[in-house]
Amino acid sequence: MWYGKAHVFYPEASEDRCTAALLMEVDPVGLVRGRGNKKDDSFRLKQYVNDKPYVCSSLLSTSLTKVFGSAISGKCQNPDLVEQIMPLEAKLAVLPARGGEAFLRSLFEPLGYELELERHALDSKFSDWGESPYFTVSLKNSTTLKELLTHLYVLIPVLDNDKHYFVGDDEVEKLLRKGDGWLEDHPAKDTITRRYLKHKKSLVRIALDRLVEEDAEDEGAQDTTQEPSSVPAVEETISLNEQRLKDVLQVLKENGAKKILDLGCGEGNLLRLLLRDKSFEKIVGIDVSYRSIEIVAKRLRLKDLLARDRNRIELLHGSLMYRDQRLAGYDAAAVVEVIEHLDPPRLAAFERVVFECARPETVVVTTPNSEYNVLFETLPVGKLRHDDHRFEWSRQEFEAWCQQLCKRFKYEVELKTVGPVDNTVGSPTQMGVFRR
Ligand code: SAH
Repeated sequence: MWYGKAHVFYPEASEDRCTAALLMEVDPVGLVRGRGNKKDDSFRLKQYVNDKPYVCSSLLSTSLTKVFGSAISGKCQNPDLVEQIMPLEAKLAVLPARGGEAFLRSLFEPLGYELELERHALDSKFSDWGESPYFTVSLKNSTTLKELLTHLYVLIPVLDNDKHYFVGDDEVEKLLRKGDGWLEDHPAKDTITRRYLKHKKSLVRIALDRLVEEDAEDEGAQDTTQEPSSVPAVEETISLNEQRLKDVLQVLKENGAKKILDLGCGEGNLLRLLLRDKSFEKIVGIDVSYRSIEIVAKRLRLKDLLARDRNRIELLHGSLMYRDQRLAGYDAAAVVEVIEHLDPPRLAAFERVVFECARPETVVVTTPNSEYNVLFETLPVGKLRHDDHRFEWSRQEFEAWCQQLCKRFKYEVELKTVGPVDNTVGSPTQMGVFRR
Protein backbone atom coordinates (compact mmCIF):
# COMPACT_ATOMS: atom_id res chain seq x y z
CA MET A 1 0.00 0.00 0.00
CA TRP A 2 1.22 3.49 -0.69
CA TYR A 3 1.59 4.30 3.00
CA GLY A 4 3.54 1.19 3.95
CA LYS A 5 3.25 -2.54 4.47
CA ALA A 6 0.78 -4.72 6.31
CA HIS A 7 1.76 -8.17 7.58
CA VAL A 8 -0.62 -10.82 8.88
CA PHE A 9 0.53 -13.70 10.98
CA TYR A 10 -1.10 -16.35 13.12
CA PRO A 11 0.55 -16.72 16.54
CA GLU A 12 -2.10 -19.23 17.50
CA ALA A 13 -4.28 -21.57 15.44
CA SER A 14 -5.91 -24.51 17.18
CA GLU A 15 -9.26 -26.26 17.02
CA ASP A 16 -10.71 -23.92 19.66
CA ARG A 17 -9.04 -20.66 19.03
CA CYS A 18 -7.32 -18.76 16.29
CA THR A 19 -5.54 -15.44 16.49
CA ALA A 20 -4.76 -13.35 13.47
CA ALA A 21 -2.34 -10.51 14.11
CA LEU A 22 -2.14 -7.58 11.77
CA LEU A 23 1.08 -5.62 11.95
CA MET A 24 1.40 -2.38 10.07
CA GLU A 25 4.63 -0.72 9.11
CA VAL A 26 3.71 2.79 8.19
CA ASP A 27 6.18 4.78 6.16
CA PRO A 28 5.96 8.35 7.50
CA VAL A 29 7.65 9.84 4.47
CA GLY A 30 5.34 7.87 2.19
CA LEU A 31 2.48 9.46 4.07
CA VAL A 32 3.66 12.94 3.20
CA ARG A 33 4.63 12.21 -0.38
CA GLY A 34 1.69 9.90 -0.98
CA ARG A 35 -1.76 11.04 -1.91
CA GLY A 36 -3.02 11.56 1.60
CA ASN A 37 -1.92 15.01 2.50
CA LYS A 38 -2.39 17.10 -0.61
CA LYS A 39 -5.26 19.08 0.82
CA ASP A 40 -3.69 19.96 4.09
CA ASP A 41 -0.95 22.51 3.91
CA SER A 42 -2.12 24.54 6.87
CA PHE A 43 0.44 23.14 9.27
CA ARG A 44 3.33 21.58 7.43
CA LEU A 45 5.28 20.23 10.36
CA LYS A 46 2.30 18.09 11.32
CA GLN A 47 2.81 16.14 8.12
CA TYR A 48 6.08 14.83 9.51
CA VAL A 49 5.47 14.85 13.22
CA ASN A 50 2.31 12.96 14.01
CA ASP A 51 1.15 9.74 15.59
CA LYS A 52 -0.04 8.00 12.41
CA PRO A 53 2.80 5.46 12.16
CA TYR A 54 2.19 4.22 15.71
CA VAL A 55 -1.53 4.10 16.28
CA CYS A 56 -4.79 2.65 14.99
CA SER A 57 -6.15 5.19 12.55
CA SER A 58 -7.93 5.39 9.22
CA LEU A 59 -4.79 3.72 7.82
CA LEU A 60 -5.73 0.62 9.79
CA SER A 61 -9.24 0.74 8.36
CA THR A 62 -7.85 0.87 4.87
CA SER A 63 -5.57 -2.07 5.68
CA LEU A 64 -8.49 -4.06 7.08
CA THR A 65 -10.33 -3.79 3.78
CA LYS A 66 -7.19 -4.75 1.88
CA VAL A 67 -6.18 -7.66 4.08
CA PHE A 68 -9.50 -8.97 5.36
CA GLY A 69 -11.63 -7.58 2.55
CA SER A 70 -13.17 -10.91 1.68
CA ALA A 71 -14.33 -11.46 5.28
CA ILE A 72 -15.80 -7.96 5.40
CA SER A 73 -17.72 -8.44 2.19
CA GLY A 74 -18.67 -12.02 3.10
CA LYS A 75 -16.96 -13.46 0.05
CA CYS A 76 -14.69 -16.25 1.11
CA GLN A 77 -14.43 -19.94 0.32
CA ASN A 78 -16.66 -20.72 3.23
CA PRO A 79 -19.22 -17.91 3.39
CA ASP A 80 -21.16 -19.66 6.19
CA LEU A 81 -18.26 -19.04 8.50
CA VAL A 82 -18.36 -15.32 7.83
CA GLU A 83 -22.02 -15.16 8.84
CA GLN A 84 -21.60 -17.35 11.91
CA ILE A 85 -21.98 -15.75 15.32
CA MET A 86 -19.08 -16.65 17.60
CA PRO A 87 -17.25 -15.26 20.60
CA LEU A 88 -14.76 -12.81 19.14
CA GLU A 89 -12.20 -10.53 20.65
CA ALA A 90 -10.32 -7.67 19.03
CA LYS A 91 -7.25 -6.20 20.67
CA LEU A 92 -6.10 -2.78 19.60
CA ALA A 93 -2.61 -2.06 20.84
CA VAL A 94 -2.69 1.73 20.63
CA LEU A 95 -6.02 3.31 19.96
CA PRO A 96 -6.28 7.10 20.07
CA ALA A 97 -9.62 8.00 21.61
CA ARG A 98 -10.07 11.71 21.14
CA GLY A 99 -12.96 12.14 23.50
CA GLY A 100 -11.72 9.83 26.20
CA GLU A 101 -13.03 6.70 27.80
CA ALA A 102 -16.66 7.80 27.96
CA PHE A 103 -16.69 8.45 24.25
CA LEU A 104 -14.94 5.19 23.48
CA ARG A 105 -17.53 3.30 25.50
CA SER A 106 -20.40 5.22 23.95
CA LEU A 107 -19.34 3.95 20.53
CA PHE A 108 -18.90 0.26 21.27
CA GLU A 109 -21.14 -0.56 24.22
CA PRO A 110 -24.42 0.11 22.40
CA LEU A 111 -23.26 -2.50 19.86
CA GLY A 112 -22.93 -5.10 22.60
CA TYR A 113 -19.18 -4.99 23.19
CA GLU A 114 -17.58 -5.57 26.53
CA LEU A 115 -14.53 -3.34 26.90
CA GLU A 116 -11.31 -3.66 28.79
CA LEU A 117 -9.24 -0.52 28.71
CA GLU A 118 -5.84 0.59 29.74
CA ARG A 119 -5.17 4.30 29.40
CA HIS A 120 -1.60 5.42 28.82
CA ALA A 121 0.02 8.44 30.42
CA LEU A 122 1.45 11.05 28.10
CA ASP A 123 4.89 10.32 29.50
CA SER A 124 5.52 7.78 32.22
CA LYS A 125 8.40 9.90 33.58
CA PHE A 126 6.32 13.05 33.96
CA SER A 127 3.08 12.07 35.58
CA ASP A 128 1.95 15.67 35.96
CA TRP A 129 1.69 15.92 32.17
CA GLY A 130 -1.44 13.87 32.60
CA GLU A 131 -3.12 11.29 30.45
CA SER A 132 -2.67 10.78 26.74
CA PRO A 133 -5.55 10.06 24.40
CA TYR A 134 -4.11 6.55 23.82
CA PHE A 135 -5.65 3.34 25.08
CA THR A 136 -4.90 -0.33 24.80
CA VAL A 137 -8.29 -1.83 24.24
CA SER A 138 -9.85 -5.25 24.16
CA LEU A 139 -13.33 -5.56 22.70
CA LYS A 140 -15.35 -8.72 23.25
CA ASN A 141 -18.63 -9.61 21.65
CA SER A 142 -20.60 -12.53 20.32
CA THR A 143 -20.97 -11.50 16.75
CA THR A 144 -19.93 -12.32 13.23
CA LEU A 145 -16.45 -11.66 11.96
CA LYS A 146 -17.96 -9.54 9.23
CA GLU A 147 -19.71 -7.34 11.75
CA LEU A 148 -16.72 -7.00 14.05
CA LEU A 149 -14.46 -5.93 11.19
CA THR A 150 -17.08 -3.52 9.88
CA HIS A 151 -17.51 -1.86 13.28
CA LEU A 152 -13.74 -1.45 13.56
CA TYR A 153 -13.53 -0.13 10.04
CA VAL A 154 -16.00 2.68 10.76
CA LEU A 155 -15.31 3.46 14.42
CA ILE A 156 -11.50 3.55 14.53
CA PRO A 157 -11.27 6.66 12.33
CA VAL A 158 -14.16 8.16 14.29
CA LEU A 159 -12.12 7.81 17.48
CA ASP A 160 -8.97 9.13 15.90
CA ASN A 161 -10.90 12.01 14.30
CA ASP A 162 -8.17 12.72 11.77
CA LYS A 163 -8.52 10.85 8.50
CA HIS A 164 -5.46 10.49 6.37
CA TYR A 165 -7.25 11.16 3.13
CA PHE A 166 -9.45 13.74 1.57
CA VAL A 167 -13.10 12.96 2.11
CA GLY A 168 -15.24 13.14 -1.01
CA ASP A 169 -18.84 12.32 -1.92
CA ASP A 170 -18.18 8.60 -2.23
CA GLU A 171 -17.43 8.47 1.50
CA VAL A 172 -21.13 8.94 2.21
CA GLU A 173 -21.93 5.82 0.21
CA LYS A 174 -19.17 3.95 1.97
CA LEU A 175 -20.46 4.95 5.38
CA LEU A 176 -24.05 4.04 4.57
CA ARG A 177 -23.02 0.71 3.13
CA LYS A 178 -20.80 -0.16 6.07
CA GLY A 179 -23.28 1.26 8.58
CA ASP A 180 -26.17 -0.73 7.20
CA GLY A 181 -28.10 -2.49 9.94
CA TRP A 182 -26.46 -0.82 12.95
CA LEU A 183 -25.64 2.83 12.41
CA GLU A 184 -29.20 4.10 11.92
CA ASP A 185 -30.13 3.06 15.47
CA HIS A 186 -26.84 3.91 17.13
CA PRO A 187 -27.33 6.56 19.84
CA ALA A 188 -24.12 8.33 18.78
CA LYS A 189 -25.06 8.23 15.09
CA ASP A 190 -24.71 12.02 14.65
CA THR A 191 -21.22 12.19 16.12
CA ILE A 192 -20.11 9.08 14.24
CA THR A 193 -21.31 10.51 10.96
CA ARG A 194 -19.81 13.91 11.60
CA ARG A 195 -16.41 12.58 12.47
CA TYR A 196 -16.39 9.86 9.83
CA LEU A 197 -17.05 12.45 7.14
CA LYS A 198 -14.35 14.67 8.56
CA HIS A 199 -16.86 17.27 9.65
CA LYS A 200 -17.73 18.18 6.05
CA LYS A 201 -21.12 19.61 6.76
CA SER A 202 -22.64 19.13 3.33
CA LEU A 203 -21.77 15.43 3.33
CA VAL A 204 -22.83 14.94 6.93
CA ARG A 205 -26.20 16.41 6.11
CA ILE A 206 -26.67 14.09 3.14
CA ALA A 207 -25.68 11.06 5.20
CA LEU A 208 -27.88 11.96 8.17
CA ASP A 209 -30.84 12.65 5.89
CA ARG A 210 -30.50 9.25 4.37
CA LEU A 211 -30.09 7.56 7.71
CA VAL A 212 -33.17 9.39 8.93
CA GLU A 213 -35.16 8.33 5.91
CA GLU A 214 -34.28 4.73 6.53
CA ASP A 215 -34.99 5.17 10.20
CA ALA A 216 -38.39 6.76 9.69
CA GLU A 217 -39.50 3.84 7.61
CA ASP A 218 -39.05 1.53 10.58
CA GLU A 219 -42.18 0.31 12.23
CA GLY A 220 -42.73 0.94 15.91
CA ALA A 221 -41.22 4.40 15.88
CA GLN A 222 -41.04 5.78 19.38
CA ASP A 223 -42.06 9.08 20.80
CA THR A 224 -39.45 11.65 19.91
CA THR A 225 -39.49 13.31 23.25
CA GLN A 226 -37.66 10.17 24.36
CA GLU A 227 -35.15 10.38 21.50
CA PRO A 228 -32.30 8.05 22.45
CA SER A 229 -29.48 10.32 23.37
CA SER A 230 -25.85 9.63 24.04
CA VAL A 231 -25.27 13.11 25.32
CA PRO A 232 -24.01 12.27 28.80
CA ALA A 233 -21.65 9.62 27.47
CA VAL A 234 -20.17 11.86 24.83
CA GLU A 235 -20.19 14.96 27.02
CA GLU A 236 -16.44 14.97 26.97
CA THR A 237 -16.34 15.42 23.23
CA ILE A 238 -19.37 17.56 23.10
CA SER A 239 -19.28 19.06 19.64
CA LEU A 240 -19.42 22.76 19.14
CA ASN A 241 -22.90 22.40 17.70
CA GLU A 242 -24.18 20.62 20.78
CA GLN A 243 -22.49 23.14 23.06
CA ARG A 244 -24.06 26.00 21.15
CA LEU A 245 -27.53 24.55 21.37
CA LYS A 246 -27.11 23.94 25.09
CA ASP A 247 -26.01 27.53 25.62
CA VAL A 248 -28.90 28.91 23.57
CA LEU A 249 -31.36 26.79 25.51
CA GLN A 250 -29.94 28.03 28.78
CA VAL A 251 -30.29 31.68 27.76
CA LEU A 252 -33.89 31.10 26.69
CA LYS A 253 -34.68 29.48 30.03
CA GLU A 254 -32.88 32.12 32.08
CA ASN A 255 -35.00 34.74 30.38
CA GLY A 256 -38.15 32.86 31.25
CA ALA A 257 -39.24 32.64 27.64
CA LYS A 258 -42.22 30.38 26.98
CA LYS A 259 -43.08 31.15 23.37
CA ILE A 260 -40.07 30.68 21.13
CA LEU A 261 -39.18 31.27 17.50
CA ASP A 262 -36.34 29.32 15.92
CA LEU A 263 -35.48 31.45 12.90
CA GLY A 264 -33.59 29.44 10.24
CA CYS A 265 -34.28 26.25 12.17
CA GLY A 266 -32.43 24.02 9.67
CA GLU A 267 -32.98 20.39 10.47
CA GLY A 268 -34.45 21.03 13.86
CA ASN A 269 -31.67 20.33 16.36
CA LEU A 270 -32.77 23.16 18.61
CA LEU A 271 -36.46 22.42 18.05
CA ARG A 272 -35.90 18.93 19.34
CA LEU A 273 -34.41 20.22 22.59
CA LEU A 274 -37.16 22.80 22.98
CA LEU A 275 -39.85 20.21 22.47
CA ARG A 276 -38.37 18.00 25.15
CA ASP A 277 -38.57 20.77 27.73
CA LYS A 278 -42.12 21.29 28.86
CA SER A 279 -41.44 24.82 30.08
CA PHE A 280 -41.64 25.94 26.45
CA GLU A 281 -45.30 26.29 25.63
CA LYS A 282 -45.21 27.31 22.00
CA ILE A 283 -42.38 26.59 19.58
CA VAL A 284 -42.20 27.78 16.00
CA GLY A 285 -39.48 26.84 13.53
CA ILE A 286 -39.11 28.65 10.25
CA ASP A 287 -36.73 28.02 7.37
CA VAL A 288 -36.45 29.07 3.76
CA SER A 289 -35.53 25.54 2.75
CA TYR A 290 -38.59 23.38 2.26
CA ARG A 291 -36.40 20.31 2.31
CA SER A 292 -35.21 21.23 5.81
CA ILE A 293 -38.80 21.62 7.00
CA GLU A 294 -39.63 18.17 5.64
CA ILE A 295 -36.63 16.69 7.41
CA VAL A 296 -37.60 18.32 10.70
CA ALA A 297 -41.11 16.92 10.44
CA LYS A 298 -39.66 13.48 9.87
CA ARG A 299 -36.95 13.68 12.52
CA LEU A 300 -39.30 14.93 15.20
CA ARG A 301 -41.94 12.46 14.02
CA LEU A 302 -44.56 15.17 14.24
CA LYS A 303 -47.22 12.82 12.92
CA ASP A 304 -46.78 10.52 15.89
CA LEU A 305 -46.67 13.11 18.64
CA LEU A 306 -49.39 13.17 21.24
CA ALA A 307 -51.90 15.94 20.61
CA ARG A 308 -50.58 17.91 23.59
CA ASP A 309 -47.07 18.07 22.14
CA ARG A 310 -48.28 18.37 18.58
CA ASN A 311 -50.01 21.62 19.46
CA ARG A 312 -46.88 23.08 21.02
CA ILE A 313 -44.90 23.04 17.81
CA GLU A 314 -45.40 24.56 14.41
CA LEU A 315 -43.20 24.57 11.33
CA LEU A 316 -43.32 27.39 8.83
CA HIS A 317 -41.80 27.61 5.41
CA GLY A 318 -40.73 31.18 4.81
CA SER A 319 -37.92 33.62 4.34
CA LEU A 320 -36.54 35.96 6.96
CA MET A 321 -36.17 38.60 4.25
CA TYR A 322 -39.88 39.38 4.26
CA ARG A 323 -42.12 40.73 6.97
CA ASP A 324 -44.22 37.94 8.34
CA GLN A 325 -47.07 38.56 10.75
CA ARG A 326 -46.92 34.94 11.87
CA LEU A 327 -43.73 35.81 13.75
CA ALA A 328 -45.28 38.45 16.01
CA GLY A 329 -46.17 37.86 19.66
CA TYR A 330 -43.29 35.63 20.84
CA ASP A 331 -41.15 35.94 23.95
CA ALA A 332 -37.86 35.02 22.32
CA ALA A 333 -36.22 34.26 18.99
CA ALA A 334 -33.16 32.07 18.42
CA VAL A 335 -31.10 32.82 15.31
CA VAL A 336 -28.45 30.14 15.48
CA GLU A 337 -25.73 30.17 12.82
CA VAL A 338 -27.99 31.85 10.29
CA ILE A 339 -26.84 35.45 9.67
CA GLU A 340 -23.59 34.33 8.03
CA HIS A 341 -25.70 32.58 5.37
CA LEU A 342 -27.35 35.85 4.34
CA ASP A 343 -25.97 38.15 1.67
CA PRO A 344 -24.63 41.26 3.38
CA PRO A 345 -26.77 43.65 1.30
CA ARG A 346 -29.85 41.73 2.43
CA LEU A 347 -28.96 41.69 6.07
CA ALA A 348 -30.83 44.98 6.58
CA ALA A 349 -34.10 43.33 5.52
CA PHE A 350 -33.53 40.51 8.00
CA GLU A 351 -32.79 43.01 10.77
CA ARG A 352 -36.12 44.74 10.28
CA VAL A 353 -38.06 41.49 10.06
CA VAL A 354 -36.65 40.32 13.39
CA PHE A 355 -36.13 43.46 15.45
CA GLU A 356 -38.91 45.65 14.11
CA CYS A 357 -41.66 43.33 12.93
CA ALA A 358 -41.42 40.14 15.05
CA ARG A 359 -39.86 42.16 17.89
CA PRO A 360 -39.67 39.55 20.64
CA GLU A 361 -38.55 40.38 24.16
CA THR A 362 -35.28 38.46 23.70
CA VAL A 363 -33.25 37.62 20.59
CA VAL A 364 -30.30 35.22 20.73
CA VAL A 365 -27.96 35.40 17.74
CA THR A 366 -24.94 33.14 17.24
CA THR A 367 -22.36 33.31 14.47
CA PRO A 368 -18.77 32.11 13.92
CA ASN A 369 -15.92 34.15 15.34
CA SER A 370 -13.57 34.39 12.35
CA GLU A 371 -10.55 35.06 14.56
CA TYR A 372 -10.81 31.51 15.88
CA ASN A 373 -10.41 29.99 12.39
CA VAL A 374 -6.62 29.89 12.71
CA LEU A 375 -7.08 27.19 15.34
CA PHE A 376 -8.89 24.81 12.97
CA GLU A 377 -5.95 22.86 11.65
CA THR A 378 -7.72 21.61 8.56
CA LEU A 379 -9.09 24.99 7.51
CA PRO A 380 -6.82 26.68 4.95
CA VAL A 381 -5.92 30.25 5.82
CA GLY A 382 -8.50 32.77 4.67
CA LYS A 383 -11.15 30.17 3.92
CA LEU A 384 -14.59 30.29 5.53
CA ARG A 385 -15.86 27.38 7.61
CA HIS A 386 -18.66 26.46 5.24
CA ASP A 387 -19.16 26.86 1.50
CA ASP A 388 -22.47 28.57 2.04
CA HIS A 389 -21.15 31.21 4.44
CA ARG A 390 -21.25 34.69 2.93
CA PHE A 391 -19.06 36.17 5.65
CA GLU A 392 -17.57 35.42 9.04
CA TRP A 393 -17.03 38.24 11.49
CA SER A 394 -14.33 39.03 14.02
CA ARG A 395 -15.47 39.82 17.54
CA GLN A 396 -15.16 43.52 16.82
CA GLU A 397 -17.25 43.30 13.66
CA PHE A 398 -19.98 41.36 15.43
CA GLU A 399 -20.04 43.76 18.32
CA ALA A 400 -20.33 46.75 15.99
CA TRP A 401 -23.27 45.09 14.25
CA CYS A 402 -24.97 44.36 17.56
CA GLN A 403 -24.48 47.87 18.87
CA GLN A 404 -25.99 49.57 15.83
CA LEU A 405 -29.01 47.24 16.06
CA CYS A 406 -29.50 48.21 19.69
CA LYS A 407 -29.44 51.89 18.79
CA ARG A 408 -31.86 51.55 15.92
CA PHE A 409 -34.33 49.17 17.50
CA LYS A 410 -34.02 50.00 21.21
CA TYR A 411 -32.56 46.76 22.49
CA GLU A 412 -29.66 46.08 24.84
CA VAL A 413 -27.09 43.46 24.01
CA GLU A 414 -24.94 41.15 26.12
CA LEU A 415 -22.07 39.46 24.28
CA LYS A 416 -21.10 35.91 25.22
CA THR A 417 -18.66 33.23 24.17
CA VAL A 418 -19.61 29.70 23.11
CA GLY A 419 -17.10 26.86 23.25
CA PRO A 420 -13.51 26.81 24.53
CA VAL A 421 -12.03 30.30 24.91
CA ASP A 422 -8.55 30.97 23.59
CA ASN A 423 -6.74 33.90 25.21
CA THR A 424 -5.80 35.49 21.91
CA VAL A 425 -8.54 34.65 19.45
CA GLY A 426 -11.53 34.05 21.72
CA SER A 427 -14.16 31.33 21.35
CA PRO A 428 -15.17 29.51 18.15
CA THR A 429 -18.72 30.85 18.25
CA GLN A 430 -19.90 34.26 19.43
CA MET A 431 -23.30 35.03 20.84
CA GLY A 432 -25.30 38.21 21.26
CA VAL A 433 -28.26 38.19 23.64
CA PHE A 434 -30.54 41.11 22.85
CA ARG A 435 -33.15 42.27 25.34
CA ARG A 436 -35.81 44.82 24.57
N1 SAH B 1 -30.20 27.04 13.08
C1 SAH B 1 -29.85 25.77 12.50
C2 SAH B 1 -29.42 25.85 11.04
C3 SAH B 1 -28.27 26.74 10.70
S1 SAH B 1 -27.84 26.67 8.98
C4 SAH B 1 -28.78 25.09 13.32
O1 SAH B 1 -28.14 25.72 14.14
O2 SAH B 1 -28.57 23.89 13.13
C5 SAH B 1 -28.62 28.10 8.35
C6 SAH B 1 -30.07 27.90 8.06
O3 SAH B 1 -30.63 29.15 7.67
C7 SAH B 1 -30.34 26.95 6.91
O4 SAH B 1 -31.25 25.95 7.31
C8 SAH B 1 -30.92 27.84 5.83
O5 SAH B 1 -31.88 27.17 5.02
C9 SAH B 1 -31.55 28.94 6.65
N2 SAH B 1 -31.74 30.18 5.90
C10 SAH B 1 -30.86 30.78 5.06
N3 SAH B 1 -31.42 31.90 4.55
C11 SAH B 1 -32.65 32.01 5.08
C12 SAH B 1 -33.71 32.94 4.93
N4 SAH B 1 -33.60 33.99 4.13
N5 SAH B 1 -34.84 32.74 5.63
C13 SAH B 1 -34.96 31.67 6.45
N6 SAH B 1 -34.01 30.77 6.62
C14 SAH B 1 -32.86 30.93 5.95
